[in-house]
Amino acid sequence: MFIAVEGIKKYRYPLIIALIFTTIGLFMWYVRDVRYFLLFFSIGVTDGFVRSFVQNNPRFKQPLRLFVMISVGGGLFFGLSIISRVNFQFSQIIFDAYEMVVTGALIQLVVARVILPLFAGSAFCSRVCWDGAFFELTNSKVVSKRKPVKRSEFVAWTYLTLVIVTAFIVAYNVQVSKDETIRLYWIVGENLYIIVLGTILTHFLGSRGYCRLLCPFLTISGLFSRFSLIKIKPDNSNSCINCNKCNKACPMLIDVKECVQNNIPVKSNTCILCERCVSSCPKDILSLRG
Ligand code: SF4
Ligand code: SF4
Ligand code: SF4
Repeated sequence: MFIAVEGIKKYRYPLIIALIFTTIGLFMWYVRDVRYFLLFFSIGVTDGFVRSFVQNNPRFKQPLRLFVMISVGGGLFFGLSIISRVNFQFSQIIFDAYEMVVTGALIQLVVARVILPLFAGSAFCSRVCWDGAFFELTNSKVVSKRKPVKRSEFVAWTYLTLVIVTAFIVAYNVQVSKDETIRLYWIVGENLYIIVLGTILTHFLGSRGYCRLLCPFLTISGLFSRFSLIKIKPDNSNSCINCNKCNKACPMLIDVKECVQNNIPVKSNTCILCERCVSSCPKDILSLRG
């Protein structure tokens, strides 16, 4: 009995995450179809399994997270976006609003950017997004040594507004949603645009430039992620040796060390729960927990 209780305690966060995704999947099955359940269920179970495994094998935490991200993100992009031509990018939400229909893009916005952040922050950005996977793979190769530019909420919300206006103008003039070929070109074009823009921004303005400074999805999920059930939290802050490794590891350039020194959770609206700060701390001060 004692061993069972200890086991549940030890694996409670992997279990909670698997349960959250499974519950969302069941809801999606109810409102849409079984494919969405399979998608969310498999993400939750895979993430839960990986989390359980890395608790005893922490050195595999980051390589496995990246592997899951590339597999899930790549599978979604090629399986759903390219083959089934479901556009998950922000523009599609506006196209749907213009045509007053509901597709995977709006569902993704509500589920992954509003509901999920209340429980698991912006973890979608470090577990599922294919553009994010590309930025993770290339970030260290393209980032320059210039002083990084800090995020401005004004710039982020202005960009989001520009995306909305542009998408409405496109929807008014082009039948992107109704014509399969145009939709495929749009999906490929928009993702290429994000990758090229993100690579340029990262080079000139600092790590994960597009994600950190502009991405409309993160701007929205950041509104809710500050209330997340689980966050990066310090434990035993007094043992911090001020090595700065957590700050150097953070792709979103968050001052994690300051949170440790003030003994508070990381509440930044750009934290993507990648746990790089956790993996980098030589004193095991940081963890992802409720
Ligand atoms: S910030 Fe945007 S581009 Fe970056 S990982 Fe998140 S959703 Fe993807
Ligand atoms: S604070 Fe930690 S979990 Fe959040 S983005 Fe930075 S490294 Fe990732
Ligand atoms: S990596 Fe750990 S020990 Fe080093 S500054 Fe950050 S919290 Fe302190």
